[in-house]
Amino acid sequence: MFPIVFFLLCRVRGLTDAPRGQSRGQLVSLRTTPTPAGPVAPRRTARLTPLPSPAARLARGSFLGAWQELNADATIGHCVDNLETSGVLANFRRLVDGGPQGAFQGFWFADSDLYKTLEAVGWEIGRSGTDRWAELLDDVAGLLERVQEPDGYLNTYVQGTPGEQRFARPDYTHELYCAGHLVQAAVALHRGSGDERFLAVARRIADLIVREFGDDARALIDGHPEVETALIELYRETGDEAYLHAAELQIERRGYGLLGPGHFGAVYFQDHAPVREATEAAGHSVRQLYLAAGVTDLYLENGDESLLVAQEKLWESAFGTKMYVIGGHGSRHRDEAYGDPYELPPDRAYAETCASIAALQWCWRLLLATGKPRYAEEMERALVNAIAASTSETGTAFFYSNPLQLRTGHDGTSEDAPSERLPWYRCACCPPNLARLLASVHAYAATGDDTGLQLHLITAGEFSAAGLTAKVETGYPYDGDVLIVTRGTGELSVRVPSWATDATAEVTGGKILAEATPGGYLRVACTGETTVRIALPMTPRLVRADERVDAVRGCVAVLRGPVVYCVEQADLPDGVLVEQLRLDPAAAVTEEGTRLRLSGFARKDDPDLYPAHEPAPAAGDESITFTAIPYHSWANRGPGAMRVWLPLA
Ligand SMILES: [Zn+2]
Repeated sequence: MFPIVFFLLCRVRGLTDAPRGQSRGQLVSLRTTPTPAGPVAPRRTARLTPLPSPAARLARGSFLGAWQELNADATIGHCVDNLETSGVLANFRRLVDGGPQGAFQGFWFADSDLYKTLEAVGWEIGRSGTDRWAELLDDVAGLLERVQEPDGYLNTYVQGTPGEQRFARPDYTHELYCAGHLVQAAVALHRGSGDERFLAVARRIADLIVREFGDDARALIDGHPEVETALIELYRETGDEAYLHAAELQIERRGYGLLGPGHFGAVYFQDHAPVREATEAAGHSVRQLYLAAGVTDLYLENGDESLLVAQEKLWESAFGTKMYVIGGHGSRHRDEAYGDPYELPPDRAYAETCASIAALQWCWRLLLATGKPRYAEEMERALVNAIAASTSETGTAFFYSNPLQLRTGHDGTSEDAPSERLPWYRCACCPPNLARLLASVHAYAATGDDTGLQLHLITAGEFSAAGLTAKVETGYPYDGDVLIVTRGTGELSVRVPSWATDATAEVTGGKILAEATPGGYLRVACTGETTVRIALPMTPRLVRADERVDAVRGCVAVLRGPVVYCVEQADLPDGVLVEQLRLDPAAAVTEEGTRLRLSGFARKDDPDLYPAHEPAPAAGDESITFTAIPYHSWANRGPGAMRVWLPLA
């Protein structure tokens, strides 16, 4: 029997010549001491402080830790291989003497595939100390230095396409978007390995942005937000306030129609309203979410409360009315955009992988800014559902869109909505985005402040801050038992999920300061060795779709802990289709490892009925039991129908 919970959409290659821009004598030194920060390292107003990379380690066998190892062993190398086969690296080589000839390959923003992969390499070096990418980094650093123009400009599409001029079509060409990813890669490599070469390239293009689009210069913004958060991170890494101000200008200039109407209207690239007034999630979902991350970064550095107020309202719109139960964002395929509130069709869910990653990045910044657990909870939802589902068990095939239903007879041959994960995409934004997230995912688990350590993602691993070290053992998200042993003196805070209504905590050697309240933090004063045992209720439960989500009105989704379940055709008896299932909410449910055994009925269909017809009698429905699997593991057994939302018997 399930406890039924009302789901209100969720509360909630090798070139060593001197670069174009400099003589050999100007080449910077290869390495300095790494600055072991994670992806976000606020300098000023953060309420919580991210841990330096060595202070956050995931246990190798944990859900996140094993996935991170898979990313290191398979996904990053797969991305590197595809930079060759997709022509991304050739786009750079053809611009230097002796490089291959031929046209630019791929989409105009293909440079970003390289940069995101480099970012993954940077975080991975910082995490594991691997040197397997040393030759790649040498090759690519030399290539970037040679392709970069003397004034810092670098974009192989514009540089390599006759008729294109730099910054002439900012609504379209993604030049600042690509520059942003270059900057983020350089920061990751600098933090991970102390590599100064990429940082020098990144600073040259950032300096160009500062000069060309400063206060008294051209008021240009990019059609695809991304450079905002990148410039702020470059400021954090270098201390150069010019980058922070350049980011501020990018943000403050948005919303005044500078980009023109474009193909889908100004809302598509969030140029329809200034950021303090644009409090409804709208337009292209990845652009919306990257912009939001950048605005929140700006708040973290300048403390302008009006930015935070607007961002929290925007978050409530996005996460309260426009998010899928799997943590997916953006329901419309046409413009990869957010739909109207509650417009969340399961089978036509776009829910781009990059959007869930961007949502996690935004939530992390809001968590740092406010300390509110709701942001961590939504990070977890996205991680263990939409983002986890987007990678195959081999780590080398990916979903771009993440539907919550695939119908029997679905034509899965298009990249737009494939039946199975694909090894690569013509628009390959998602795979390297996954790689960079996973290489740094340990950095999103915990924070510190003056008083102690806060655990936000429940995972096995070791975390330390403010003189307090916590070793966490748990099989979460499948097992609700969490054992934490701390050493040192300080306050330990552990997030208690909002669904954990019967959570209990036992503490030995320390003192409970705040009980394990759902949707809050268990707080424990630790001294010496303190043992904290938390039991989270993992009974499978049903959540009901909000009435306003017409496509799934009356349906339920099965969750266990934070994990969303689905039913696949491969687990149904012969002759029963996914579309015929009706779940009996009163029937017993059996747990079989990570799988669930459910009961219900198979509705008999009348093949002669037109899609609209009089209510048909239920007589003849067949009583059946069937298996549900974690949504994140769907489509690993060949193509087949699947659904998350189940009609009730
Ligand atoms: Zn993507």
